[in-house]
Amino acid sequence: MQAIQLFSQGGPDVLELRDVAMPLQKNGEVLVQVSYAGVNYADVYQRNGQNPAILPCIPGVEGAGIVIAGNASIPSGSRVAWLSQAGSYAEHLSIPAWKLIVLPADVSTHDAAAAMLQVVTAQYLCETSYRAQAGETALVHAGAGGVGLLLTQILKHKGLTVISTVSTSEKASLALAAGADHVVLYSETDFIRAVKDLTLQQGVHVVYDSVGLQTYQGSMALLRPLGSLVLFGQSSGNVPPIDPMHLCRQGSLFLTRPTLAHHVADAESLKYRSQRAISWLRDGIVDLRIHHIYPLEQASLAHADLESRRTTGKLLLAVSS
Ligand code: NDP
Repeated sequence: MQAIQLFSQGGPDVLELRDVAMPLQKNGEVLVQVSYAGVNYADVYQRNGQNPAILPCIPGVEGAGIVIAGNASIPSGSRVAWLSQAGSYAEHLSIPAWKLIVLPADVSTHDAAAAMLQVVTAQYLCETSYRAQAGETALVHAGAGGVGLLLTQILKHKGLTVISTVSTSEKASLALAAGADHVVLYSETDFIRAVKDLTLQQGVHVVYDSVGLQTYQGSMALLRPLGSLVLFGQSSGNVPPIDPMHLCRQGSLFLTRPTLAHHVADAESLKYRSQRAISWLRDGIVDLRIHHIYPLEQASLAHADLESRRTTGKLLLAVSS
C-alpha cells in the first residue's frame, strides 16, 4: 500500500510518499481502507520535532473509511471514523474496534473525516475543561482556524458572548459568520487593550488559547478573578513554565493544559463525545468548513499551508476512493 512516511523530523519536505507493507491485523482490530485522513496541528508538531516521534513512522491520527476485514461488532463494509490512531496517512489502517465510530447513514464519510477530531476537541474544551455557561464571555484565539470556528459556533449555541482574535480581515469575516460577537485583529491591534475595552475593563470568564507563546500572557491578563485559561495548543511556540503564584496574584485563576487523547481514552468517553459531536452536526449547530482536500502525495503541501497561517477550517488528505 502507499503511505506517507516520516524518516526524520524537520520541514514539510520530510513527508515522503512510499510503498510500505500492509498493516498486520492484531487481535481485537479491524482493517480499514482509509478514504480521507485529517491533517491536524499535532501532525505538524510530530513532524517538526515540537513533539517526540519514534522513527520511521506514518503520521496522522484521524480519518474515515470503510472496514474491509471486520469482526462481529463492526462487520466489513461498515463506514467508520476515528480520531486517535497513529498511522492514518496511509491507504490501510488496522485499528482496535473500540476506537472506531460507526457512521450513521446521514453523515458522509467526507464530513466525518473533517469533523470528528476537531468537533470532539471543541466538545471537551467547552463541556469538560471549562463548563461554558450562558451569559459568560469567552475569548477564542485563532477564531477562524479549524478548531476556532467550531468552538465559536458551540459557545454561541450555549449562549456565551464570543470575542475572537484572527490575523486577517478575511478571517475576521469568517469568525463573524461563525457567530463571534466581536473580532480583534491581533496582528495589527493590541488585543489586550481591545478586549479590555470590549468588556468594559471586566475581562472574560474563559480564554481558549491554542496559539501559545505569542498570546498566553495576554490571555492571563484578560481573565476576570477566578477565570480560566484553557491552553490547548502552541501554534506560535511552546509556553514556558508558569509560576503558580502568578495565577494567585492575577485573581486565583485556573489554568489547564488538556489534550484530546485523555478525553477519548476509553470506549465510553469516545462514544459519549462522538455522539455529541454527531448530534451537533445533524442539528446544524456546527457547520463544517473544509479549507482544501489534498491528494495523499501532497501531504507536505498541506502541512506547509497549515503552518503558513493562510488556511481556515479543515484540511483533508484524499487517500483512496
Ligand atoms: P488552525 O486551523 O487553528 O491553524 C492554526 C492557526 O493558529 C493559524 O491559522 C493562525 O490563525 C494561528 N496562529 C497564530 N500564530 C501562529 C503562528 N506563529 N504560526 C502558525 N499559526 C499561528 O489549526 P487547528 O484547528 O488544526 O488547530 C488549532 C490548535 O488547536 C493547534 O494549536 C492544535 O495544536 C490545537 N489542538 C489541540 C488539541 C488538544 O486536544 N489539545 C486537539 C486539536 C487541536 P491566525 O492567522 O488567525 O492567527
